[in-house]
Amino acid sequence: PASAAVIDRAHKAQSPTRPSVRGRLVIDSAMGAGFTDPDGNVFLDMSAGVAVSSVGRNHPKVVAAIREQCEKLMHSAGLVSETTVALAEKLNATMPAGLKDESFTWFGMSGSGAIETAIKFAKAITGRNQIVAFEGAYHGVFHGSLAVTTRENFRAQFGPLMPGTMHLPYPYCYRCFADLKHPECGSLCSKYARYKLTTPNTGADDVAAVIVESMQADGGYIDPPPEFLQTLREVCTAKGIILIIDEVQAGGGRTGKMWAHEHYGIVPDMMTWAKAIGGDLPLSGVTIHERFRDKLPLGSQVLTGAENALANVVAMANLDILTDPDDDLIGRAAVVGEELKAELREIAANSHFIDEVRGRGLFIGIELVSDKDKRTPLDAKRVGAILQKCESQGVRIMSCGRYGSTIRLMPPLTTTRAHLRAGIKAFANAVAEVEA
Ligand code: PMP
Repeated sequence: PASAAVIDRAHKAQSPTRPSVRGRLVIDSAMGAGFTDPDGNVFLDMSAGVAVSSVGRNHPKVVAAIREQCEKLMHSAGLVSETTVALAEKLNATMPAGLKDESFTWFGMSGSGAIETAIKFAKAITGRNQIVAFEGAYHGVFHGSLAVTTRENFRAQFGPLMPGTMHLPYPYCYRCFADLKHPECGSLCSKYARYKLTTPNTGADDVAAVIVESMQADGGYIDPPPEFLQTLREVCTAKGIILIIDEVQAGGGRTGKMWAHEHYGIVPDMMTWAKAIGGDLPLSGVTIHERFRDKLPLGSQVLTGAENALANVVAMANLDILTDPDDDLIGRAAVVGEELKAELREIAANSHFIDEVRGRGLFIGIELVSDKDKRTPLDAKRVGAILQKCESQGVRIMSCGRYGSTIRLMPPLTTTRAHLRAGIKAFANAVAEVEA
């Protein structure tokens, strides 16, 4: 078929480091939660790109914004464009109290780039060198963002990376490192982080930043217990450490709040964002508290391709769609997410493989295991077979997690209930077939 020919050409013409070069699916055109391949097969995308197309692909308001802007200006390279200013103002206004109207934004083109920038800024602001991150984190592929990422398959053969990083345990309570249950564990991850960040003569005095995903994404779609982020906030404030919250995947309304850290009642010093804000176009950024403005070296962080006017108007359209009170997509994500989790838990009760179902809004993690008592991660072969069986029913679903055995559901927030139910049905069918 035509898809196979495209994949064959990708193997020859593209770098083998790109995951989809190894993939099976080719995207040719798209609309909303659906896309078609070059053979005309139609797929439901339960992954919204990779949590990118939160308002659905090719939303009519986004297409109209591009059409209108492209005749006028696309690339502002080094000059001030009102579209960038307007987007910065709009974004800053979406921040929770404590950052709202007390922040400014730096713009980039990728999540990885936003993380690199936040790390540099934290070093400049504090004059310190160490960066603390968490096990299971994914923050990007460059020397700084990869250094704070713990995925060995991404790191192997590329070291030494940015020096001065330390990884502490993230509360992945389903697979607790101490084999304890929350809350009986007494929130060990929070206690350990407090200990590592406050004990003198252990390097704690040189920590510039703690970087943490509000809800861990690629590491397994994990919503941490509230005291974890609250402890980090408290310790960072006490020690003058910059708290960088990475909202690249969980942010933008998917979890039922505009920014996932709002569920935990904390305010970051810096926040990185990307994916859903740019949506159909590449865009990322770091939003920073106003009190750090004078600590940043003037004109020191520039990217030629950043501040693209097309990306700016698309992001503004995305924010308008997400925050439109009539559709209330963010509130709907919270409600629909609860419905989906309830349905999935019913399916799990009759399944050998499907165990914990967790998450908030349309950020849902599902543990696949071969033994529910021992919580043995389902092997890559059977996880792969399940995903392939979903695809042959026309549904794209992705996995994630330290063992590759967590299914993540992150469909566009605009996906109809009927389509979401169809997606889950395809997943349940696929699991049942592989179990048989
Ligand atoms: N941070 C998080 C939480 C992410 O999920 C990702 C991408 N998966 C990144 C950073 C890096 O983003 P990008 O791929 O756009 O560089």
